[in-house]
Amino acid sequence: MRLQVLSSGSEGNAYLLRAGEVTVLVDAGLGVRVLSERMQAARLAPRAVDHLLVTHGHLDHSRSAGAVAKRQGAVLHCAETIMTHRALDRAPRKAALPIGGEFLLDGRDGRGSLAAKAVLLPHDCDPTVAFRFEHAGRVAVILTDMGHPRAEVARALAGAHILVLESNHDPALLRTAPYPQALQERIRGDRGHLSNEQAATMLADLAHPGLHTLVLAHISKKANRVELALEVAVAALERLGLGHVRVLAAAQDAIGPALEV
Ligand SMILES: [Zn+2]
Ligand SMILES: [Zn+2]
Repeated sequence: MRLQVLSSGSEGNAYLLRAGEVTVLVDAGLGVRVLSERMQAARLAPRAVDHLLVTHGHLDHSRSAGAVAKRQGAVLHCAETIMTHRALDRAPRKAALPIGGEFLLDGRDGRGSLAAKAVLLPHDCDPTVAFRFEHAGRVAVILTDMGHPRAEVARALAGAHILVLESNHDPALLRTAPYPQALQERIRGDRGHLSNEQAATMLADLAHPGLHTLVLAHISKKANRVELALEVAVAALERLGLGHVRVLAAAQDAIGPALEV
């Protein structure tokens, strides 16, 4: 299984997962044209996506989901309550996410399958989920847009070999960021986004000796710095005795490497 970040941050999110015969896109938060360019850059053939999974209804995750699902001939999986959302309603084939439960994603023509699980997160768009994928004994987890750490979420997502984890802001930089007061409060609130330190708390519960790569995601351009996010995560891993884990930062403006899970 290979995981590749196509875009990550408040301007748009998309993650590509290729597992044997099954190709999955998680979130489609960029415009159709830019997202198509990113998929081409990732050497994805036209109409190769079998399933498009949407974490939640915020536009930085759902913006072009309906249009992309239609173009790709992919099944759109989202919470039942957001199926009629304007960004999603163009998808010809939709499936309701079984939140909290496991489900199987089949490859085209029924070939291959990928096990997936959607886990509920505290965030100010209900419902918001993280995903855990398992294929041939390998596990990838994508967890962004979470208001505060929760041990039970980490338990439900256990065993990642690659972990994509939100490390959104630094509280001090957030205070001086050019945001209206209400937005600042939203971001730092219990249903907002994980700070670097809160990400480290989640990491302590999610990390295990099998974890080999941590990808820090949804890093704020105005209320964080990549070096700071990396520094906090590296220190947390060292405290856990997991200094061998490779730590990367997901970018907003360019695709990341294709990572072997
Ligand atoms: Zn977001
Ligand atoms: Zn969100």
